[in-house]
Amino acid sequence: MICIRSINALRLHIADEKRTSNTIGFVPTMGALHAGHISLIKHAKAENNVCIASIFVNPLQFNNVEDFKKYPIQQDADIALMEAAGCDVLFMPHTEEFYPTQPKISIDVGLLDRILEGTHRPGHFSGVTIVVTKLFNIVAPDKAYFGQKDLQQVAVINQLVSELNFPIEIVACPIVREQNGLAMSSRNMRLSNSGKSIASNLFKALSFIEAKIKGGEKSVTILIASGKTYLDQFKEIELEYLEVVNGNSLESITEIKEINKVAICIAAHVEGVRLIDNLVIIL
Ligand code: AMP
Repeated sequence: MICIRSINALRLHIADEKRTSNTIGFVPTMGALHAGHISLIKHAKAENNVCIASIFVNPLQFNNVEDFKKYPIQQDADIALMEAAGCDVLFMPHTEEFYPTQPKISIDVGLLDRILEGTHRPGHFSGVTIVVTKLFNIVAPDKAYFGQKDLQQVAVINQLVSELNFPIEIVACPIVREQNGLAMSSRNMRLSNSGKSIASNLFKALSFIEAKIKGGEKSVTILIASGKTYLDQFKEIELEYLEVVNGNSLESITEIKEINKVAICIAAHVEGVRLIDNLVIIL
């Protein structure tokens, strides 16, 4: 695996790969790697000649300064994990080169910025679209891999690629979970063992609602109330939102009817760590 820090060096390397008609699969990450990230590398590796990954903790997408400061960094371990997973090129840009000045351009993703994560993390998706646009322009991959753990992010990237005509196929990969159901996340490193165990109840609440949907419950108000009642047992969980939405558009719904996909989305804080999770159900 080659580690590259400079944008120009990466461009030169990629030009070489393209001369030999190699296809490039790209996995952008913020590091503090876990099995969820590794699954994206494996998908990229299986479907392309070359797998390029990036590690860059993007300051623009943090709406909370403390969250940015506390974001886990484990560079040496990450390099070893990337190499073991079969990554060919690891791009780790320096912030000063990546953002020589604060970008003045911003991309408004419309409705997606006014629902779920958009409402709760103002400015988050404009930070995501800027970093992803820059990375796409630098790497010019054939395919790019994202986790469904960040369901709304996948929707934002799909909209970005479609509306701005990026010649890149977006591949959404399934959520990788701990045995107890907790969705893997770099932020889990900040949880104690008991915090991790408590946090697994977020997935249990999603599964509880899923079972009710499969049992025929149509009212979103009733579904949400039952999920909240379940979570109320755990005083350590501070719920930010729990929503049942249209699984295609992520728009809110009041009843489960005339749709083929529903998404249950949750954000909550445990031990001061913000966690998100979701469950998509095909009806
Ligand atoms: P991050 O480093 O958190 O920005 O995540 C980088 C990529 O890994 C994003 O596309 C995430 O959606 C994806 N990812 C994070 N956690 C998981 C997980 N538990 N399962 C699958 N993909 C994940």
